[in-house]
Amino acid sequence: MRPLDVGIIGGGTAGCAAALVLARQGHRVTLYERVPDPGPVGAGISLQPTGQHVLHRLRLLDHVLARGARIDRLLCETASRRTIVSLAYRTCGEGYFGLGLHRGVLFEALWGAVLATSSITVRTGVEIVDLERTRVPRGRGLVDREGGRHGPHELVVVADGARSQLRDDTSTSKRAVPYPWGALWFVGRDERPRDDARTPLLHQVCDGTQRFLGMLPTGLGPGPIEGKPPLVSLFWSIRTDTREAWRRRGLTAWKDEVRALAPEADGVLAQIEDEAQVLFAGYHDVVMHRWATRDVVYLGDAAHATSPQLGQGANLALWDAMELGDALATEPRDVAAALGRYSRAREQHLAYYQVTTRWLTPFFQSDATWLGPLRDVAMPLLCSVPFTARMMTRSMLGVASGLGFGQLEVDEVVRPRGLGIGA
Ligand SMILES: Cc1cc2nc3c(=O)[nH]c(=O)nc-3n(C[C@H](O)[C@H](O)[C@H](O)COP(=O)(O)OP(=O)(O)OC[C@H]3O[C@@H](n4cnc5c(N)ncnc54)[C@H](O)[C@@H]3O)c2cc1C
Repeated sequence: MRPLDVGIIGGGTAGCAAALVLARQGHRVTLYERVPDPGPVGAGISLQPTGQHVLHRLRLLDHVLARGARIDRLLCETASRRTIVSLAYRTCGEGYFGLGLHRGVLFEALWGAVLATSSITVRTGVEIVDLERTRVPRGRGLVDREGGRHGPHELVVVADGARSQLRDDTSTSKRAVPYPWGALWFVGRDERPRDDARTPLLHQVCDGTQRFLGMLPTGLGPGPIEGKPPLVSLFWSIRTDTREAWRRRGLTAWKDEVRALAPEADGVLAQIEDEAQVLFAGYHDVVMHRWATRDVVYLGDAAHATSPQLGQGANLALWDAMELGDALATEPRDVAAALGRYSRAREQHLAYYQVTTRWLTPFFQSDATWLGPLRDVAMPLLCSVPFTARMMTRSMLGVASGLGFGQLEVDEVVRPRGLGIGA
């Protein structure tokens, strides 16, 4: 394809990955990021085999493997320690695992590679608020918050996250609403015994639909790895409109409540001395009629944010970037045709995860208390049937598609178990 002039809005997972994919195909890329000095912030995320596959193609996988915690299993239990969900990655192949990762590690891998790529121009501290059509040359101009104009670009990639303001200006937006529930999170040292069988798993404990704890081994965090203790991320479900009441109740009462549900969280809770150490993350539910117009394409959370119940958001964002590159490589003469191809390529995979996440989330976080007992009966049954257990495991891997029977092809990262600190 002749080199395109591409503008990418947002330097998160989707934007950075798209910048790298397109620059490596020979396109000239300008990346606009609103934060003046982006840094490696955030909590733990699960990097699934799909995300690992894309990072492998970008030659960035070794960086995250060295700093991640290998996750072999998801275990979700009731307060009385009855198993609700138990899924092992290896059901789908010995080489598959999840990687518990500090979000900052993913950021530093992607952002570092962006800065090191000479064909990517990075413009930080620039918040794009509008897209406009230009006639000569034909393309899309970008307008920033100060009224400055940028471009025009032949292709614009909008990857400005779940709260995208640019999505609203188009006919593409269908629904973009905040979810009433979110999560409190804290990243601390993982002081649980290394031989504790619970360590290499994402462990969740829930009581009804209103009390839900997650503990995700999170690896070593960003920066140098020598001499660092392993980290764990603690997530606690909370209704968004009760955050003020949570603050008024005080840390001690909250810690007691968490400890009563999951005594093994005690070591992490002991590291929290001030409520300011506990951060809040809200969720959004974004649905679009289509992910692309003739010369604008929406990737990542801007296009399809969901609750993180299935732990797929960053993985979907990475896969978007890879598919966009593949679509442009397959339709070398026509941007509109390439974007049409991209949308078709993403349809089945995104539909599966959007529908499944929307359907599943209320069973774990919602006001519908009757869903809790139903979940506690139905989920163990589904896990005990090999066919449904395998479908659920494929969903966890990130490879399920369409009605759940389709499957993306991803490499097994076959490595000695000594790699990754959770191994
Ligand atoms: C509590 C929680 C747990 C999660 N756990 C997981 C998990 O386990 N696994 C997983 O895969 N995903 C998880 N996710 C989801 C994952 O973090 C997101 O899906 C992913 O980060 C989306 O990447 P993105 O690039 O689309 O958006 P973002 O990461 O939000 O990046 C958007 C970027 O655009 C910039 N920007 C915004 N507006 C503008 C503008 N107007 N102009 C210029 N720049 C702009 C922002 O500063 C930001 O850098 C979780 C999310 C939450 C909240």
